Amino acid sequence: MSQPSLHPAVDNGIQPASASFAGGTLQCKCSSNPVTVEISSQTAHNHLCGCSKCWKPEGALFSQVAVVGREHVKVTANAEKLAAVDPTAVIKRFACKDCGVHMYGRIDNENHPFYGLDFVHTELSPQTGWAAPQFAAFVSSIIETGTDPASMDSIRQALKAKNLEPYDCLSPALMDAIATHVAKASGVLH
Ligand SMILES: [Zn+2]
Ligand SMILES: [Zn+2]
Repeated sequence: MSQPSLHPAVDNGIQPASASFAGGTLQCKCSSNPVTVEISSQTAHNHLCGCSKCWKPEGALFSQVAVVGREHVKVTANAEKLAAVDPTAVIKRFACKDCGVHMYGRIDNENHPFYGLDFVHTELSPQTGWAAPQFAAFVSSIIETGTDPASMDSIRQALKAKNLEPYDCLSPALMDAIATHVAKASGVLH
């Protein structure tokens, strides 16, 4: 049995980041009048995500998602085709109404630990040199979108073989960052 696709950006080997990389342009899948989003910086915390909210390419078990400062995200063409997938979600994911691709996710709540960071899928860019995926988050969640629980062992093994440590929430570094934010907000930590 052939392995299912984890994600096109990792299936045939992960491309390393370029040290001098300073951004690129994301483009939706429309063949005419595509939405384009200019990212004027390298991204951070790139990872695979198994949650049911992130946009995944056709046939992939996971999305690939990274963060970048919102000041580095600019819609440069066909902005009128964008709409929030779920306007009530914490992360508002703006998708193309024609092809369904998510172009960026944004947090409006200034008290959120990740406020100020937008979520982007850098495989939508023709440029190479973007930050490489470092881990896999919310791995167990792919069961919620139809993956057989019996295949989870082999999927976790496949992730580890790519040096993408599988986690069932976010990575320890990001979970620590969230908890630190909460502890500072409540006054427990100064
Ligand atoms: Zn589109
Ligand atoms: Zn996700």
